[in-house]
Amino acid sequence: MSLLTLENVDVVYGNGKLANRVVHDFSMDLEAGEVVCLLGPSGCGKTTVLRAIAGFEPITAGRILLDDQVLSLPGKMLAPEARHIGMMFQDYALFPHLTVEKNVRFGLHDWDKNKATERVEEMLELVGLEQFIKRYPHELSGGQQQRVALARAIAPQPRLLLLDEAFSNLDVDTRERLAMEVRDILKQNKLSAILVTHHQSEALAMGDRIAWMHCGRLSRWTDNRQKQATLEDIQKVAQEHLNNEGKYPDYCPIELQSA
Ligand code: ADP
Repeated sequence: MSLLTLENVDVVYGNGKLANRVVHDFSMDLEAGEVVCLLGPSGCGKTTVLRAIAGFEPITAGRILLDDQVLSLPGKMLAPEARHIGMMFQDYALFPHLTVEKNVRFGLHDWDKNKATERVEEMLELVGLEQFIKRYPHELSGGQQQRVALARAIAPQPRLLLLDEAFSNLDVDTRERLAMEVRDILKQNKLSAILVTHHQSEALAMGDRIAWMHCGRLSRWTDNRQKQATLEDIQKVAQEHLNNEGKYPDYCPIELQSA
């Protein structure tokens, strides 16, 4: 059964003559415990889809449901904090003036004090940073900071986790290692997640399914659940999305599309 469903969703930025429909007729589903990667060039609308799921952008058509609860309809949206969705972004967004412990504890303000302490310890053990509990973010490497961000995102037991280019600021080796570690953590804890990336290898390594996005639309799926796709399979799909110069684009401009 689907945990998350997006049905024919449109998102429009601006209004009047400047209204631009950057997400168009977007439908997808996510099963409980599944990791779906949204893959596409920069500018194709991936972050906007995540922001709509998180409740930061209103939708102008369609609907978004989580566990059969309506999250967003045109003209109506549940507040982000009422959605119980965890998020992790590229720029870590850790609070620089708070220790690792307090960063992870941040989302647990309504928990019983002792339970929150236990949960923080459990989360730091999960990401292998228990010995760094008293450090500040600037005393950690980029990869360690991202692991703290992950611990903080999953501490409040979100129903769904959204990761937006979470590893992009890291060097290639760290990025690849951390991506695999995070996938293991998600799977061991049966967490459901949507991960946005423009790296084909990352999508291939992490996704149970890959949703290819192109110019605001979902163009096709690659399903890894029965048989893991190879880099060659991915390159074949990329061939379907070449630009006028015959290349897979780095950037996918969305033409002004009146809504
Ligand atoms: P991606 O995550 O795939 O790089 P985004 O969802 O960030 O793409 O952006 C999709 C399109 O929407 C881009 O053309 C971008 O310039 C535009 N866009 C993003 N945020 C806003 C905004 N707040 N106002 C207007 N246009 C925006």
